[in-house]
Amino acid sequence: MALVRKEREIPLLKMCDVLVIGGGPAGLGAAVSAAREGMDVILLEKRAFLGGNITASYVENCNYFLRNTPFKAEGLYAEIERRCYEEYGNDNARSYNQKAFSSEYLKLYLDKLVQEEGITVLFHALVNEVIMEGSSILGVIVQTKQGPQAIQARQYIDTTGDADVAYASGVGYDQGREGDHLCQPGTVSLRLSGADTRKLLENGRDGLSEIGRQFKAAYRAGETALACKRQDLPFGRLTHGGLISYVNYSCAYGLDPTDIQDLSKGEMECRTYVYDIYHYLKRTYDELKNIEIASIAPEIGFRDSRRIHGCYKLTIEDMESNRHFDDVIAVFPRFYDMLAPDAYMDGNGSVEGKGFAGHIYEHVVDERTFEIPYASLIPLGVDNLLVAGRCISADHVAESGVRAISLCMMTGQGAGVGAALAVKGACEPKDVCIAELQDRLRSLGLNIPSKEGA
Ligand SMILES: Cc1cc2nc3c(=O)[nH]c(=O)nc-3n(C[C@H](O)[C@H](O)[C@H](O)COP(=O)(O)OP(=O)(O)OC[C@H]3O[C@@H](n4cnc5c(N)ncnc54)[C@H](O)[C@@H]3O)c2cc1C
Repeated sequence: MALVRKEREIPLLKMCDVLVIGGGPAGLGAAVSAAREGMDVILLEKRAFLGGNITASYVENCNYFLRNTPFKAEGLYAEIERRCYEEYGNDNARSYNQKAFSSEYLKLYLDKLVQEEGITVLFHALVNEVIMEGSSILGVIVQTKQGPQAIQARQYIDTTGDADVAYASGVGYDQGREGDHLCQPGTVSLRLSGADTRKLLENGRDGLSEIGRQFKAAYRAGETALACKRQDLPFGRLTHGGLISYVNYSCAYGLDPTDIQDLSKGEMECRTYVYDIYHYLKRTYDELKNIEIASIAPEIGFRDSRRIHGCYKLTIEDMESNRHFDDVIAVFPRFYDMLAPDAYMDGNGSVEGKGFAGHIYEHVVDERTFEIPYASLIPLGVDNLLVAGRCISADHVAESGVRAISLCMMTGQGAGVGAALAVKGACEPKDVCIAELQDRLRSLGLNIPSKEGA
C-alpha cells in the first residue's frame, strides 16, 4: 500500500561547488580535500557532531591493526591523529596504545578543522531525497525542522555509509553477504567509569587485555550466561582516571541497517546487553567492582550496509592478488575484519578457501597491500555523483577491509579531489585526468604508486 504526495516547491537553501553528505571519516576526507582544492564546500551531517562511527560508536583506536607493522597512517588521517594528540593528549594508561585519541576531544577538534578549511557544515541535516534532471542530480533535499529544503551543487559526494544519496538517485546496490544478504551485526558501544587503573596495570601487566581473554574462554565454556551472541570483548582506551572509553561488545544480529523497524529493535536489544556486560564485569572482577555505565553510544553503529553498483566492483580476488589499477587512488595494508553476520564465531578467521564461515580476521602480514581504483567510487547511472567510505563498489568480504576508518578517509580524499577536478574541468567525475588526480592525492600525503612502479 502507498500514499500519494502532491508535488510541492522546495525552497533552495544554499548552493555550492561540492556538496558532501555525511560527516564521518569518508565525508571529512572528501570535504577537506575538496576545500583544499579551492572549492566552495558544504558538508551535511544528520547528527550534531562530526566523526561518524569514530565519535558516535567511540572507535578511538581506529588504526590498532597497524601497530608493529611497516605501515603508517597517511593523508588527512595522519594529520588528525597528530593534531589531536598535540592539542588534547590522549590520557592512555596502556602505554603501547599511544595513537588512540578521545573521541570527545575529537569532536572539538573536527569543529575547528572544518572552520579552518572554510567548509560550511550543517548539522541535523538528514538527506533522503534528490531531485534528478535526466541522469544528473539537480539538488538534494534536506529534512529540517522547517520542512524540506534543497541544496544545489555542481558535484555531489555520498559519504553516508549507507549510500543514501546514491539509493535516492536510483543507483543499484548490494547489501550484506552474497546469498542471504545478512550484514555484520550492529553495535551499541559503551563507556565505563570507576575502573581501578592502578590495579589493572599492576606489575607491568595489562589487566584489561587479560579480562578480554578470560571473557572469551568463559563464554566459549558456556560460563557467562549472557544472552548477547558476541563472544569477545574488545576494550578501548583506559585512562588514568579509571575510564574505559570504549567497550565494543553489545551486538544485535540479523538487522537491516536501513530499516527503521530493525534499527529500533536493535537499539533496544543492544541496550539490554550493555547492562548485562556492565553487571557481569562489575560482579566478576575485583578491579572493576566500582564501575558505572558512564555513557551509552548515541546510536547503533554498523560495519556494512548498502554497497553501490559502481564502474568497478572491487573483489576479494583483487585484494588477495594485490591487483594493480591504473586509476589507483589508495593503497592499504591487506587486512580483513568481518564479524560473522550469523553470529557463528567458529571457523579459523581466515579468508582462505573462501568458505567465509564464521568470524574473519586477517592480520596485516609483512608488506602485503591492496589497491582501490577510482572506478569503485563512480556509481553507475548518475553523472555528477561520487561515493566514498564503506559503501563503495566492493564485494562483501572486500568491504571488510575497505571499511577501515583510515581507508574510508582516503577514499573520501579521492572523491573530494575527483569532484574538484570535475568542477574545474566542467566535466563528469568519470572523465577527470587520472594522472592529475593521483598527483593531487600525493601532494595531500597519500602514497600512490607511479605507473612505472606499479
Ligand atoms: C562498533 C564498531 C567498531 C568498529 N571498529 C573499527 C576499528 O577499530 N577500526 C576501523 O578502522 N573501523 C572500525 N569500524 C568500522 C568503521 O567505523 C566504519 O567502517 C567507518 O566509520 C565507515 O566510515 P564512513 O565515513 O563510510 O561511514 P560512517 O562512519 O558511518 O559515517 C557516515 C556519516 O554520515 C552521516 N549520515 C548517514 N546518513 C546520512 C544522511 N542520510 N544524511 C546526512 N548524514 C548522514 C552519519 O551520521 C555519519 O556521521 C567499527 C565500526 C563499528 C560500528
